[in-house]
This record gives sequence, structure tokens and C-alpha cells, in this order.
Amino acid sequence: MLCPKCENKEMETQSVAGIEIDRCPECHGIWLDALELESLLKRDIKPLLEADGQFEAVTRQEGRRLHCPRCKGTYLIKLNSRLRPGTIVDSCTTCFGTWLDAGELTRLAGDDFARLIAKLFGAP
Ligand SMILES: [Zn+2]
Ligand SMILES: [Zn+2]
Repeated sequence: MLCPKCENKEMETQSVAGIEIDRCPECHGIWLDALELESLLKRDIKPLLEADGQFEAVTRQEGRRLHCPRCKGTYLIKLNSRLRPGTIVDSCTTCFGTWLDAGELTRLAGDDFARLIAKLFGAP
């Protein structure tokens, strides 16, 4: 699968806590299929967060829309993440995949992460 951002760069499949994710070796963005983000945030993904945390999440300049790497010809739209309102992520409304720029996963899994997850998933 090609990186939606770099367009001609093949993403690398990486297994994190038993979940297969696609990560771009060039821009370090992460593609997650539907529900993979929720699954990831429920698990111990420290190594991935450590890798991702080296990057500052920057708000991308407008003007360039990204294509969904899975659905040909479909654009990703910017949605307020329901996991962390205020963080805008690129999502596909066809396959429900999510694109995270480098650093965005770390932002999503921020400091009150545990509390948030407990609330979302009813953990004790
Ligand atoms: Zn890339
Ligand atoms: Zn799609």
C-alpha cells in the first residue's frame, strides 16, 4: 500500500501488540484500518509511541488533499477524532481507515490516555 502523503512510497507493515499497521518509512505517518486505532489504544504500544513521540505533530498546511491508500480515487476528510476531540485526523468515510501524521498518535494517546481509555472501554 502506498503512503497517502508521499504518494510513491510503499508503506511497511509493522506488527504492534498483535495488530498489523502500515507505517511510512519516509514521513513516518501511520495508516490504520477501521477499528485498528481503537484496538491499538487499548494495548501496550509504548515502543510505537516512543518512536512516534520523536516527531512533533504539526498541523499540515491546507491546499493538498490526501487520497485514501485503500480506496482508489477517494479523498480522506478531516475529522475531529472522537477519541480525542480537538485532534483532527484524516479519515476515509468509505473504508473508515485513519491516517495519522508522524506525532499524531502520540497526541491521541496523550497524558490522560489511561483515563480516557477507561471511560471509553469501561476498564476497571
Ligand atoms: Zn509517507
Ligand atoms: Zn478508504
